[in-house]
Amino acid sequence: MVDSRSDQNLKPVADLWYSIEAFESNILLLRETHIDPYAVGDIWIVRGRDCDLVVDTGSGKVNPAPLVETIAAKPVTAIVLNASYDHAGGWHNFSERLCHPLDAVMLETFDVESAEVFDYLNDATLKAFPVAGYQLTDYSLTRASPTHTVDEGDVIDLGDRRLRVMHVPGRSPGGLALWEETSGCLFTSDMLYDGDHGLAWPPEDPVAYCASLRRFRELPVRRVYPGHYGLFERERMIEIIDTEIALLEQG
Ligand SMILES: [Zn+2]
Repeated sequence: MVDSRSDQNLKPVADLWYSIEAFESNILLLRETHIDPYAVGDIWIVRGRDCDLVVDTGSGKVNPAPLVETIAAKPVTAIVLNASYDHAGGWHNFSERLCHPLDAVMLETFDVESAEVFDYLNDATLKAFPVAGYQLTDYSLTRASPTHTVDEGDVIDLGDRRLRVMHVPGRSPGGLALWEETSGCLFTSDMLYDGDHGLAWPPEDPVAYCASLRRFRELPVRRVYPGHYGLFERERMIEIIDTEIALLEQG
């Protein structure tokens, strides 16, 4: 909802920053609806008996932790599947933080310039301001260290559900995906989504990227929970993977 106009450049000021949507398998989606989905990542909350897992943390333009912790009403752990601003911007706000060791280095040193934030998050993609008087350049990244690192084969146990960690480089050296075998749910962040890549194409390491996509293809995935543009089913996953591998291998 938008209720007023900032007087600086006529962008509206958002009343509510996050939308919340519930999906099967006890998974919630938090989305920063006033940023184009190309320029901000989706935040997934996987609800467990003993702990809720936050998969990616958005831009951090508005701290997501209080809302997530209120919804969870139990301990919360936040994992970032890659170290870019649109997934890791809110990560420092959580007290339990997971990432891959190779991305930890980036999360401990990143800033808006090195992360090329304003190539993506700019006047065209930001549709409203979080507070009156806000300016685009007010956005900054807060560095943080993980409380634990995770790597290929590790299991995140939420009490009644277990997610296996996959190390899937190609965009970020420490890129991760999460696979829940019992539900057939795969969380892919920037490694696989159904929509425009824009400046994020081609991926940083095309060979590693294709190898990671092939790993996804071999899993009995039922539904993909990606980093942008919303979820999709297995059939669409196969189409996207085959198209992207063909594009990169021909190019
Ligand atoms: Zn992204």
